[in-house]
Amino acid sequence: MGIFIVLEGIDGAGKSTQAKLLAKWFEKRGYEVVLTKEPTDTAFGKLIRRLVLTGGREGIIDGAKISHEAEALLFAADRAEHVKKLIEPSLKAGKVVISDRYFYSSLAYQWARGLDLEWLINLNKFAIRPELVILLDLPVKESMKRINGRKLKSEFDKIAELQKKVRENYLKLVEMFPEMKIVNALASIEDVHNDIVALVEHEILSKKE
Ligand code: ADP
Ligand code: MG
Repeated sequence: MGIFIVLEGIDGAGKSTQAKLLAKWFEKRGYEVVLTKEPTDTAFGKLIRRLVLTGGREGIIDGAKISHEAEALLFAADRAEHVKKLIEPSLKAGKVVISDRYFYSSLAYQWARGLDLEWLINLNKFAIRPELVILLDLPVKESMKRINGRKLKSEFDKIAELQKKVRENYLKLVEMFPEMKIVNALASIEDVHNDIVALVEHEILSKKE
């Protein structure tokens, strides 16, 4: 069996940056790495990007809002494809799978939308659990500075408010899921990378030897 690691955190926390660095770190040590993300690049992921993520995660189809439940089902459908077609086969082949967002994103974001946490967990029962989930945690103010250029001014306040709730939810999830570990994402890119590597060594590699 391979190794399954997930990076989580609000927009601008550094997930994509750190996922790439961690992938390189494993590759240098001779591991075969699959660097992946959610939403995926498959048909469902593309649908999510088109219907849900444009417009600041507002869930709009043809000018009408879609229900948060339908949104959660779309994310779960994309995840089911991701798990069955990429994650499980890659782990069976002994590879290291690093995913930029996963199940925990659905919990943090859809819970912030007011959906029932237990319902969300049950909906995602098929999603195999990673060995390690790195939560890149930082204040919303700092994350908004980092992603400033990505968003329209009119969306800014609305997004900041959602991000704040999502950050709080992530921190609550850490109490519920022992595989989740917090890393201070305010530090430099290099320091954050070193903290992640230390966790990987301590939580995964030392236990496999
Ligand atoms: P995410 O994938 O979580 O949205 P990114 O990795 O895309 O975050 O990073 C968002 C922005 O912040 C990018 O411009 C990136 O270069 C920058 N960034 C990432 N990590 C740090 C850091 N530790 N300190 C300062 N800037 C960072
Ligand atoms: Mg990213």
